[in-house]
Amino acid sequence: EAAKQRFVERNPASAKFFEDATEYLPGGNTRTLLYSAPFPICMKKGENYQVFDEDGHTYTDFVGELTAALYGHSHPLIKESLINTINTVGLNLGATIAQEAKHAKLICERFNLSKVRFCNSGTEANLHALAGVRHFTGKRKVVVFSGGYHGAVLGFWDGVQENGVDKHEWVIGKYNDVEGAKKLIEQDDIAAVLVEGMQGAGGCILGTNEFLLQLQESARKVGACFILDEVMTSRLGPSGLQGIEGLSPDITTFGKYLGGGLAFGAFGGRADIMAVYDPRSPNSLAHSGTFNNNTLAMNAGFVGLSEIWKPDVAVEFNKIGDAFRASLQEVTNSTKMSVTGRGALNAIHFSDNGLTKISCREDIDEDWGLKDLFYMEMMEDGFWITRRGSIAMILDTPQSELDRFVDCVGKFLERHKS
Ligand code: PLP
Repeated sequence: EAAKQRFVERNPASAKFFEDATEYLPGGNTRTLLYSAPFPICMKKGENYQVFDEDGHTYTDFVGELTAALYGHSHPLIKESLINTINTVGLNLGATIAQEAKHAKLICERFNLSKVRFCNSGTEANLHALAGVRHFTGKRKVVVFSGGYHGAVLGFWDGVQENGVDKHEWVIGKYNDVEGAKKLIEQDDIAAVLVEGMQGAGGCILGTNEFLLQLQESARKVGACFILDEVMTSRLGPSGLQGIEGLSPDITTFGKYLGGGLAFGAFGGRADIMAVYDPRSPNSLAHSGTFNNNTLAMNAGFVGLSEIWKPDVAVEFNKIGDAFRASLQEVTNSTKMSVTGRGALNAIHFSDNGLTKISCREDIDEDWGLKDLFYMEMMEDGFWITRRGSIAMILDTPQSELDRFVDCVGKFLERHKS
């Protein structure tokens, strides 16, 4: 209660913005995730690894736009690319552009795809991938896993689909349950398996290598397509999580930073499956979207992947993330707080019994009171994190801020020991 009171007193401008916003936006909000009681913080601007709110506070940004802001908020090369594109190309030309094929080639080479298509979000990428594999296989059922998140209308919390999209097509399994998944997949009528190699929104829960390989093998066995959702995990290594885990998905979906920080999605993989999108083939599937090949995302995405997020940078950055998690685990050891994740993508959890081993969403028994307190007190220390506790590092975040975060976490745990 005291923390909530301090929060209200520190943020009058955000409170006012929220009040005004509720007049036209349901709950003053247009992304449910960004709402938190009593009102969400209203940000004014971002620069490099920092964000600045309407009340004049400065934060080190660990939300990182839910992994899309890998390059930070004002990377000089991204800015230059965007300004150049506006000045020399224009906004959107209603036509195929050369940059589109260039970005496609780069993404195919980096992530071992034969063919790729672009769209506007990770959600769309998954919806198109699913439409494509249903068309290709002539089957409808899709195996997914509880705790999985594949986009706005594709959330599978606690084994129940959140909203929309023809419920009966889904077969929902338990994450990391090798034998269970095998049984669900090895059926005649399964079109695809859709899975994250690490459940990101679900709390950075790692998929075991055995589990992921089994999904791939079982899918192959029955002619179903293995779709790996790398919207979040593609930044864990030079060629994504599939490179690290030795997977060769039939289709992979992407989004986030691969558009340079702008709205972006992509799906691609096997040439025979992606051929369903070739308008020259009979019975092809339409894939449209006014902004699919928009000039800004095509150019900024290409510059980001070719000039900033080079393979050695990806390796180094994730090593820094691993070291950061190890330091956090050291201070949280034997406390109510635990840290899960991989590379520079991590999540914090609170539980009375100490969540030492989390292999699926069902293992998480979150203490939301403590988590909310953490969210508010970290803000007072100048750290912007998601309320749900995910921590997505931005490339240029200085080591001193990572160290300061670890220090503040230690102090938080000391203050709330009982
Ligand atoms: N898939 C995964 C694994 C994600 O983490 C997300 C977003 O966080 C999505 C899909 C949806 O992407 P978008 O928000 O761009 O629609």
